[in-house]
Amino acid sequence: MSEILRVEEVTKTFDRFVAVQGVSLSVEEGTIAAVIGPNGAGKTTLFNLITGILHPNRGRILFQGEEITYLPPHVICQRGIGRTFQIANVFPRLSVFTNVQVAVLAHQRRSLHFTHPAERLAIREAEVALAAVGLLEKAGQVAGTLSHGDQRLLEIAIALGTEPRLLLLDEPTAGMSPEETVATMKLIRRLAQERGLTILFCEHDMEVVFATAYTIMVMHHGRILAQGPPEVVRAHPEVQQAYLGASDA
Ligand code: ADP
Ligand code: MG
Repeated sequence: MSEILRVEEVTKTFDRFVAVQGVSLSVEEGTIAAVIGPNGAGKTTLFNLITGILHPNRGRILFQGEEITYLPPHVICQRGIGRTFQIANVFPRLSVFTNVQVAVLAHQRRSLHFTHPAERLAIREAEVALAAVGLLEKAGQVAGTLSHGDQRLLEIAIALGTEPRLLLLDEPTAGMSPEETVATMKLIRRLAQERGLTILFCEHDMEVVFATAYTIMVMHHGRILAQGPPEVVRAHPEVQQAYLGASDA
């Protein structure tokens, strides 16, 4: 297996507050990896660093062996890193279909113009992305009228529309019902298997993570406490103390 993402000793401070502290991690191509940690651990900041929304004070980030540390977000997206946000980020007044189509066209560097024959390509690609998350039947619906769970799935479809090799999902099940959560984790496994996508997601719900990811990184106060397969991480003494201990007591 080859390494698709490598984060080396990355630190990010906001004024004097250290949100991400000397974080190093590695993600293998074709795998599902997860970052777990309580609120405030630095998960979203780490994802913002990887996707170029923030730049680190120190450290390097490599994607497919090439340094991307200081590239702007759209260039990183073009290179093949897609993402969703912790808070659903769709255009509520546009249709479900148009939300994805706009993302596909932006990725292809075209603008939305319905008389252009190139639109046909975007239509098929948008349909493929919507079908992948099970939203094709709701393609004509106004996005703002979707359930919260479906809006989060739409976000994944939008990210798929940019043809990522690595997909970052920021708390994909936040606000979902238990049934929606199970379905979303199934979807993540299916996307990895069927599309050969590498997925890195973060969560604060540990059960969700242990059942889905092959590699888990535990984040606490901006640092990675442990990383490895679920059984190794579960047994890690520092993790037990800092993260698992509280609920077991
Ligand atoms: P998580 O996603 O794990 O809940 P975040 O990465 O959102 O954690 O936040 C980590 C810490 O950094 C928190 O204490 C948060 O308040 C702080 N933080 C995040 N973004 C900013 C910012 N733009 N300015 C100042 N502090 C921030
Ligand atoms: Mg967060």
